[in-house]
Amino acid sequence: MSSQTLNPQNTSVSPLDNIRIVLVNTSHPGNIGAVARAMKNMCLSQLYLVEPRKYPHDEATWRAASADDVLNSAVVCETLADAISGCQLVIGTSARERTVPWPLLDPRHCMERAYTEANADHKVAVVFGREDRGLTNDELQRCNLHVHIPANPDYSSLNIAMAVQVLSYELRMAQLSGELSHNDMADWDVPVAGAEDLERYLVHLEETLRDINFLRPEAPKKLMTRLRRLYQRTRLDEMEVNILRGVLTSTQYWVRKAKSKDGGSGGESL
Ligand code: SAH
Repeated sequence: MSSQTLNPQNTSVSPLDNIRIVLVNTSHPGNIGAVARAMKNMCLSQLYLVEPRKYPHDEATWRAASADDVLNSAVVCETLADAISGCQLVIGTSARERTVPWPLLDPRHCMERAYTEANADHKVAVVFGREDRGLTNDELQRCNLHVHIPANPDYSSLNIAMAVQVLSYELRMAQLSGELSHNDMADWDVPVAGAEDLERYLVHLEETLRDINFLRPEAPKKLMTRLRRLYQRTRLDEMEVNILRGVLTSTQYWVRKAKSKDGGSGGESL
């Protein structure tokens, strides 16, 4: 499939402009500059910084070298939610295994997928963690997919700018190869839901599960994490999110009505 057929409205803009690199809570300004340089070398330009510890900073400017344009146009956000707002595909990076496994791809396949979606005009975020602790579980659970660079198992943690370099290079290769992996949502009838729509749905779901007394201390461990993973994997579209939220609203309505009839004697009879 040619890029023209996937991106009919906007052929002059590079699909790489639909891909943002998000750095969460970076400590060292030098790393931020080195990331800007790694990105520009591979034709990426959209840098988002979530609560950087020191930015702007001379060290960042120095390490960015001639990528100071990427650095200076970086968008600084207060929360990860702000940085991934509007993104239909969110990819989390991790240097190690996590307790609940998530859909995980290697850098090549993951970045081919990211490029293919960007080429179909989806906004994509690739999220990188803190130098000392990586991303929290909560942050990783806001991602549709995870990617791990298969480094030395005994020493798998790369410097953040090096990790950005590896993934940006794979994006560049996906662009140059012109080989687009199959995008099963390219001709979808409704736009894929953005990260913030899904997050609102998941908050609503949790609230409703409490209302119907399903989410109790004795509920299976990591219940919400497993439900999050289920929905992140599904890639809901905007209409599907609206339908599901309608189901929740109606559930809440009837449960509240039943509880008030019950005279507030407790929800166990439901
Ligand atoms: N000690 C941290 C490592 C953080 S390294 C931890 O155990 O999680 C800083 C960031 O670089 C990571 O959050 C991730 O975004 C990226 N990174 C480093 N090594 C990586 C790898 N092997 N695969 C994918 N991302 C990696």
